[in-house]
Amino acid sequence: MKCKQIVKELADYLDEALDPTLRESIELHLEKCKDCRLVVDTTKQTIQIYCNSEPAPLPQTTRQRLHEALAKHLRRARA
Ligand SMILES: [Zn+2]
Repeated sequence: MKCKQIVKELADYLDEALDPTLRESIELHLEKCKDCRLVVDTTKQTIQIYCNSEPAPLPQTTRQRLHEALAKHLRRARA
């Protein structure tokens, strides 16, 4: 399981729509990869804020943090 793949499956993973085998591979990767964990945590937080609040634009800081984490992660995954 590669970092890029994690990012690709992230939406389904957070939706709990993945098959158990794939889910397990992601969780294994997350245990070892701090960067992916950061991306997953940030995304989770973003979704929680989004779901728990009135329909409103995503807080600017959260969106920025998410973008920064993703950009940083993708840069590193490509290297
Ligand atoms: Zn990773």
